[in-house]
Amino acid sequence: MIILRSIAETRKALDEWRRQGRSIALVPTMGYLHEGHLSLVDEAKKHADRVVVSIYVNPTQFGPNEDLDKYPRDFAHDEACCQARGVDAVFYPDNAVMYCPDHSCWVTEESLSQTMCGAARPGHFRGVTTVVLKLFNITQCNVAVFGRKDAQQALIIQRMVRDLNVPVSIIVAPLVRAPDGLAMSSRNKYLSSDERQRALSISAGLKQAAALFAGGERQAAALCELVSAGITKAGGNIDYVVVMDRDTLRPLTTIDRPAVLAVAAFFGKPRLIDNVFLD
Ligand code: AMP
Repeated sequence: MIILRSIAETRKALDEWRRQGRSIALVPTMGYLHEGHLSLVDEAKKHADRVVVSIYVNPTQFGPNEDLDKYPRDFAHDEACCQARGVDAVFYPDNAVMYCPDHSCWVTEESLSQTMCGAARPGHFRGVTTVVLKLFNITQCNVAVFGRKDAQQALIIQRMVRDLNVPVSIIVAPLVRAPDGLAMSSRNKYLSSDERQRALSISAGLKQAAALFAGGERQAAALCELVSAGITKAGGNIDYVVVMDRDTLRPLTTIDRPAVLAVAAFFGKPRLIDNVFLD
C-alpha cells in the first residue's frame, strides 16, 4: 500500500496503473476510519482493480462554529485499517495541497442541498461538492463509493456528476450500524457512555417507524412524531426529523413513493445523523 501526499505523486502512481489497464475506485473519507468506511472499501473492490482511500478533513465543509478543530484524527490507525483491508493507496493531503491560499472556485448544488443538513449547515454541501470534484480530478477515478449513512450527500454527489457530466460512476453502499444499532460515525468517539446509550433512541425510533410503515402506516407525520418523541424523551436535541421523497428531497405528507426518513440530533456536543429508506 502506498501513501500519497502530493497531487504530483498521486497522478504519477495512478497514471501508471491506468497504463497497465487497471480501473480505479476512490473512497473519499475524513479519516478516523471505522467499519462503515471499510465496508465502502469492500464495495469498491467489487467495482475496480485498484482502490484508493482519501483521508482529508476538508475545512470548507465546516461552519465557523462547528467541530473542525475537534474532528477526530488518527492517521496511524487509519493506515493500519487500510493496509489490513487491502487498500492499494491512501491519498493523505494537507490543506496546502488541497487549497491554494487564493482558492476562489466552488461547486454549488442548488436544489437538493437546500434542505435537511444543508439548511442546518449553510455552506456545508458547497464544501463537500467542491472537495469531491477536486478529488475526482486529482485521482481521475472510474468509480467512487459513498455511504448511505449520508443519504443527502450521496444524492447531491450523484446530481453533481449527472449535471456536470463528470465521468465517474457513483456507488452508494448500505449504512453500517454498531451491534447496538447506533449508526457508525467518527463523531461517536465524542459521546460519553451515557450519551451513547441515550443516542440509541435515534436508531430505535427509526426501526420502530420502519416497522409501522411496513405495517401500512403512510402518514409521514405519524412516523416523525414517533421518532421525535423517543429522541426528546432520551434528552436529545432534535435538528430535524423528516420524511422526504428520495429523488427530490421534498417533504412528503403521504408516503406514496420511495422515501427516506432522516434524523439529525445532538446528544451532548456530537451531531448525529441517521436514516432508513421507506419503500
Ligand atoms: P466521513 O469520513 O464521515 O466523511 O465518511 C466518508 C464516507 O463514509 C461517506 O461516504 C460516508 O457516507 C461513509 N460512511 C460513514 N459512516 C458510515 C456508515 N456507518 N455506514 C456506511 N457508510 C458510512
